Amino acid sequence: MAYIPSDQLVARVLDGDVRAIARLLTRAESGVDEARGALDALFARAGRAHVVGITGVPGSGKSTLVASLAAAVRRSGRRIAIVAVDPSSPFSGGAILGDRIRMGELGGDAGVYVRSMATRGALGGLARGTLEAVDVLDAAGFDLVLIETVGVGQDEVDIARAAHTTVVVSAPGLGDDIQAIKAGILEIADVHVVSKSDRADANRTIADLKGMLALGLSLGPRAPWQPPVVATSALRGEGIDAVLAAIDAHREALASSGEIDVRRAAIAERRLLKASEEILRDRFARERGGRVQALLGALTARTLSPHAAAIRLLDQLHSGGNA
Ligand code: GDP
Repeated sequence: MAYIPSDQLVARVLDGDVRAIARLLTRAESGVDEARGALDALFARAGRAHVVGITGVPGSGKSTLVASLAAAVRRSGRRIAIVAVDPSSPFSGGAILGDRIRMGELGGDAGVYVRSMATRGALGGLARGTLEAVDVLDAAGFDLVLIETVGVGQDEVDIARAAHTTVVVSAPGLGDDIQAIKAGILEIADVHVVSKSDRADANRTIADLKGMLALGLSLGPRAPWQPPVVATSALRGEGIDAVLAAIDAHREALASSGEIDVRRAAIAERRLLKASEEILRDRFARERGGRVQALLGALTARTLSPHAAAIRLLDQLHSGGNA
């Protein structure tokens, strides 16, 4: 099919056209300048979806859970989009999740959309374009947008900063009983899931996690929302509706306490910082042979400090730079 300019994709995306969504997401992911106007237009139309982050170490059962959760969301009459962020390649975890959904009971259901995005070795954190993908799917009318990411490094923290509700998945039998503690991400969870509750050793994981959370509560101030621990078994089809109920309860708690506005402001601030960083990195790369090169001489001769040179570079980029 012929190339369709991104601005012509906007109306189709708003209509929920999956091919238009797929094309725009590809352009967002590769950072195509031409898509900027369309992404900005869709950003303005987004803001209705509830954004849920799901994280946990590999093997904890995230993609199994997400597939079951998608079915539960459909049973509740809502539409769900899933962005699977994969640190290595677009053809592993995220693609498996996509296959699982396409080949399962949700195959061919227009109320479920799955997209995987590769981080392509970005400097930790979410893949470039992930949050723009969330905007696109939000504007396309999905009620829930899930970001699923493998728990490696910066991702979990970034996901919590981008989502309204963060779900952390732990599983028995993965070495460390509560992987969230080891990864230092106990605090980011709004909902804890202990998966594989059909296993005999699951009760200990659940008890340990509850114990850790109780300890945290006795040390810190009482928050209005206390993260529940939900046990699930995808094998037995248990606990999935309870996870969705916990996500919905958290969304309602955010709305009724006004905390949602605090989260939205924090997400906005984070995105502003990230967008600034991205623009700066792009300009720096483009200027490598020019202004940057000129300053390097002064730096290596130590006539200019890195800090002073950076200030000068920013001034130069600002006065002489194009947008
Ligand atoms: P991810 O890497 O976190 O996405 O984990 P997966 O969803 O791919 O699951 C990892 C492994 O755990 C797979 O072999 C699953 O079949 C298995 N698994 C997932 N959920 C359950 C469950 O509820 N019970 C049991 N016993 N195994 C599960």
